[in-house]
Amino acid sequence: MQQLLTRACSSVADSVGRGHVADYIPALAGIDPRRFGAAIFTRDGSHATFGDAGERFSIQSVSKVFTLAMALRAIGPALWERVGREPSGNPFNSIVQLEQERGIPRNPFINAGAIVVCDILLDFAGVEETKRRLLTLVRELAQDPTIGFDEQVADSEAETGFRNLALANFMKAFGNLRHPVDDVLDVYFHQCAIAMSTVQLARASLFLASDGQDPLTGSGYLTDDQARRICSVMLTCGHYDASGDFAFRVGLPGKSGVGGGIVAIVPGRASIAVWSPALNPSGSSHTGTLALEKIVMDARWHIL
Ligand code: GLU
Repeated sequence: MQQLLTRACSSVADSVGRGHVADYIPALAGIDPRRFGAAIFTRDGSHATFGDAGERFSIQSVSKVFTLAMALRAIGPALWERVGREPSGNPFNSIVQLEQERGIPRNPFINAGAIVVCDILLDFAGVEETKRRLLTLVRELAQDPTIGFDEQVADSEAETGFRNLALANFMKAFGNLRHPVDDVLDVYFHQCAIAMSTVQLARASLFLASDGQDPLTGSGYLTDDQARRICSVMLTCGHYDASGDFAFRVGLPGKSGVGGGIVAIVPGRASIAVWSPALNPSGSSHTGTLALEKIVMDARWHIL
């Protein structure tokens, strides 16, 4: 597996740096676009790494997988009454569709949907406790107590997140947010600001490749049905308005973030995380997507 990963990543290394880093979040604007790391974990605990695999970065929207897991665990299928599960076909921060669909976001992986998921989590605890529970979950899943929020990124998003503020206010007006907008966004901006490496991210996602149970510790986080549903939404909605293209290229459930990270799940087998900050026009890592395509083709891991 190490050879396979090294070969696949080396073969796309000349694409590193092509694209643009997400400079609409000031704290992310200065990141070196030439970084590139990748990690794979399989269900038996073997793992492989490449390049900057151990370097922490802002996981951004990849965090939406973890908050969705928390909310599904907390309220089960009732979640789907407040958030849809259809690809949006629109950019991740689009407001137009939200108006047409009366404040019910298309899916939990666009910003509006993830903001509703935060609102659901706040039914069970206050802002600080919700953030603490999220970190506890991610640390436990990754088996690494050092994972934390990058407060500088969270502040930067809070200072410039006017569009997210608009989305949240809009949903509040439609009655789809129960808690104060500022509280909901505090949780949302912090989830986006979790800093993790590809090694930590691949490890933390392994439960999704294993019916909701961590195969290495035996701890259960989701039912197999819940894990399957999350993978389905990752497959259809995990990459903004280019989710179809990702399914075409990679053929696996995945979730990307504008920090340049992507997680992909090989059901029943493995989890893969890649990171390279330069993004393609739809907001996913350019090199990361190419690397995943190559890894999956070489390993014959695609489900499609
Ligand atoms: N924090 C980012 C935002 O709200 C997340 C975007 C993303 O990674 O898709 O715009």
